[in-house]
Amino acid sequence: MAETQAATSKLRLGVSACLLGEEVRYNGGHKHMPFLTTVLSNYVEWIPVCPEVEMGMGVPRETIRLEGDAESPRLIAPKSGTDHTAGMQTWAEKRLNELTDLNLHGYILKKDSPSCGLFRVRVFDTKTQIPTRNGRGLFAKALTARFPLLPIEEEGRLNDLPLRENFIERVFVYYRWQQMLTNDPTPGSLVKFHTGIKMSLLSHSPKHYSELGQLVAQSSRKDIALQYGKLLMDGLKVMSTPGKHVNVLMHLMGFIKNELTTADKKELLNVFESYRQRLLPLIVPITLLKHHLNRNRVPDWVHEQVYLNPYPMELMLRNHV
Ligand code: SF4
Repeated sequence: MAETQAATSKLRLGVSACLLGEEVRYNGGHKHMPFLTTVLSNYVEWIPVCPEVEMGMGVPRETIRLEGDAESPRLIAPKSGTDHTAGMQTWAEKRLNELTDLNLHGYILKKDSPSCGLFRVRVFDTKTQIPTRNGRGLFAKALTARFPLLPIEEEGRLNDLPLRENFIERVFVYYRWQQMLTNDPTPGSLVKFHTGIKMSLLSHSPKHYSELGQLVAQSSRKDIALQYGKLLMDGLKVMSTPGKHVNVLMHLMGFIKNELTTADKKELLNVFESYRQRLLPLIVPITLLKHHLNRNRVPDWVHEQVYLNPYPMELMLRNHV
């Protein structure tokens, strides 16, 4: 399903501008992340955003930090005492309106920043001046509130290969989901979308797989798309494991079990087991299974599984999980 479509139209991702190498940090530096500007840039149109520069703080600038209550911290420049909270919130609302019009498919944020950080950003106690790592940057907070289904991740976590694979998979699914909503938001189209995504869901969360199946069975209901989108993106956030992948691989192998030779069956099962024991990466059992699925007669919906081609193979993400 939509393999070539997702591979040939560029995804549109928002990004903290310093991660692309733009010299917008408080000290005139950057935090270039090569993965973004090399491998990923072949498939992505980047929308760089630097909240602090765009709201007018300039480069270089005084450092800022979060202070007070982690739930609603203030954005303070401690040296001068300037409070940037209202300025950042007002600017963010306006910028998020522009980003809404751009129909983003994902967002990558710089970690630890009082503006862009997504997780565990330092919040300083106003009396003791002791920081606690339990905050979220003010722009990141506004971004997640505005786009609750959008795949959003921090650059630091993308160095963890399973987390990177999970994020990229979610971005491509979100892209497909948005395409469906834009081009043909009918009950029939939802059923077709769900049919194609089933094995991917099963590799993440059997619970969400089952709940979404029940939801799609009522696909004539008008309000279903919103509910479906939320459950879909929540389900894909649940991390896959070798055990869950082997479950899906066995399920798919079931369609050709009567056509495989004993030797082929044995080889497939051995490769699945080696993957389960993490002796082989996921790309090996998938490639071998696809070889057999292509040589044998299986229902069309099996070939159309996003699971078999979730993103361009040149990204090589399944070589490392
Ligand atoms: S972390 Fe965000 S605010 Fe800071 S320099 Fe990078 S893009 Fe700008």
